[in-house]
Amino acid sequence: MTILEERWRGVLDGMAEAERLAGRAKGSVRLVAVSKFHPASDIAELRRLGQLDFGENYVQEARAKQEALAGLGIRWHAIGPVQTNKAKDVAGRFHLLHTLDRAELARALLRRLPAGETQDVLLQVNIGEEAQKSGVAPSALAALCEEMLEGGLVSSEGPGLRLRGLMCLPPRCGEGEAARPYFEKLRLLRDELSVRFGLPLPELSMGMSGDYRQAVEEGSTMIRVGTDIFGPRPVKA
Ligand SMILES: *Cc1c(COP(=O)(O)O)cnc(C)c1O
Repeated sequence: MTILEERWRGVLDGMAEAERLAGRAKGSVRLVAVSKFHPASDIAELRRLGQLDFGENYVQEARAKQEALAGLGIRWHAIGPVQTNKAKDVAGRFHLLHTLDRAELARALLRRLPAGETQDVLLQVNIGEEAQKSGVAPSALAALCEEMLEGGLVSSEGPGLRLRGLMCLPPRCGEGEAARPYFEKLRLLRDELSVRFGLPLPELSMGMSGDYRQAVEEGSTMIRVGTDIFGPRPVKA
C-alpha cells in the first residue's frame, strides 16, 4: 500500500468512526479529497481506489486537472473563492460550487450556464465573521437568500443554479473542539433558512483535516480534507 492510499484509508476510517459515534448512518457523509497543489497523478491513484469527489480551490488549476483526467468520472468540487470574471470557467463545469456568496456572482454564473442546464451550488457563510474571509455574514444570509430566490437567481430545483445547502470555513485557530460551535451555528442557520424559505437545503459542507470528526458529529454531509490525505501541500512555485 502506498502512503497515499494508507492516509486516504485512514480518513475513511476516521469518518466512519465519527458517523458511528454520532449515531449517523454509515455513508451519510461524503469525503471530498482536496487536491489543490498536488499532482494529477495522486488524484488518478485515488480515483482508481474508488475516491469519486475531489475539491480544488483555484479555477485554472482545476480546469487543467479536469482536462488531464477527463474520462475518469471524477466529481469536481469548486471550493475556493470565485472572481466574477471567472464565472465562465465554473458554470456547468463542476459537480458542486461550494462558495457562492453574492448575487453578482450568481448573475454571472447564470449568464454563462448553457440554457436548460443545472449547476448545483452552496452558499458560503463567513461563520467566524472574519474580515479577510469570503462568504456572506451570518446576519446577511437570509437577505441574500431572499434576494436570490426572488430574483430567480437560484431555486431548489433547477434548471439554473440549484441551491443545495451551506458551506463554512471556521477561523484557523478554531481546529478540533474549538471549531464545533461554528459547525453547530452553520447547522442552525441552515435549519432556519430551510423553514423560512421552504427549501430542502440537505447539504452542509464543513470539516477539514483538523476538525472533520467534530463536523460529522454536528451534521456535516460533506467533509473537505486535504492534508490528512495528500500530506503537506507543496509550496507553489
Ligand atoms: C485547503 C482547503 C481545505 C483542506 O484543508 P486541509 O486542512 O488541508 O484538510 C478545505 N476547504 C477549503 C475551502 C480549503 O481551501
